[in-house]
Amino acid sequence: MSTIYAGVDLGGTSFVAVVANRKGRVLGSSDCVTTPDASSEETLSQIGDHILIAAKEASVKMSTIRAIGVGAPGAVDLERGIVVRAPNLGWTDVPLAATLRKRLRTDVVLGNDVQVAILGEHAYGAAKGRDRAVGIWVGTGIGGGLIANGRIDRGFRGAAGEIGHMVINEDGPECSCGRRGCVEALASRSAMERDVRAASPESAALTIMKERNKDRMTSSVIARALEQNDAVMREVVARAQHYLGLLAGNIVNMFDPEMIVIGGGVAQRLKEAFVGPIADVARSRFLRPDPEHRIRIEHAKLGDYSGALGACALARQTI
Ligand SMILES: [Zn+2]
Repeated sequence: MSTIYAGVDLGGTSFVAVVANRKGRVLGSSDCVTTPDASSEETLSQIGDHILIAAKEASVKMSTIRAIGVGAPGAVDLERGIVVRAPNLGWTDVPLAATLRKRLRTDVVLGNDVQVAILGEHAYGAAKGRDRAVGIWVGTGIGGGLIANGRIDRGFRGAAGEIGHMVINEDGPECSCGRRGCVEALASRSAMERDVRAASPESAALTIMKERNKDRMTSSVIARALEQNDAVMREVVARAQHYLGLLAGNIVNMFDPEMIVIGGGVAQRLKEAFVGPIADVARSRFLRPDPEHRIRIEHAKLGDYSGALGACALARQTI
């Protein structure tokens, strides 16, 4: 039986496809910027092409790939393999698994992008071998996932892990969910961008965005502004870290995990400089002290591949 899997990490503007062995070693990969306003059929066709390119680079035939995993943003129906709603892609009810299965004649398993990335870190990265762990993914929003008994725990209705909407300050700013003061509205990359824009039109981050012709404050812009020691950015990031620390402290008090993994673009770029202060705030909130730091709070380790390798792990665990 083949132990080679393909995994795809589909984002709002790009995707990466890998072919990997069961130990999570990437044998071939290919990435692609998706065409804006492309139809779902066109994007799925591109995804198929890039899986084939990754397989070719890995020197494996499609027929030897046991299964394909895909992590997609937004709301997904895991059982039917359908992307129900992905606003970033403009998709509604897209039969992703069936379409790719027909094209590549291989089983396809669909998962939510954040949960898949956490699965990747659990299978091959920072949380490898941990029975009980929590992932906090900081991006445009804040997503999360729970590992219990060594597996993703989706909860009673499959709705667990929405830690981005834990309310940290009820009088805080409005959140994408329509409520107020969720940690996503206080510490996501979009929240940081809102705060930078409100603080000063002269902040280094806004200048960098202009120079790079970017309309969004990406994690590379945040990293560059911090390198330039921009006071506005330092303050905004420190505030986000404080809120994320409160979140991590709450999670530890409620769930008592062995580990918290913090992922997403900002954590991936800034690594310990981002996670260290979050861990300090979290530890100051632990009801049961942990002086030996037995509970680990670390950044994700798989970098650009955590989603795609997680998709491979999802395929391996499901098929
Ligand atoms: Zn919310």
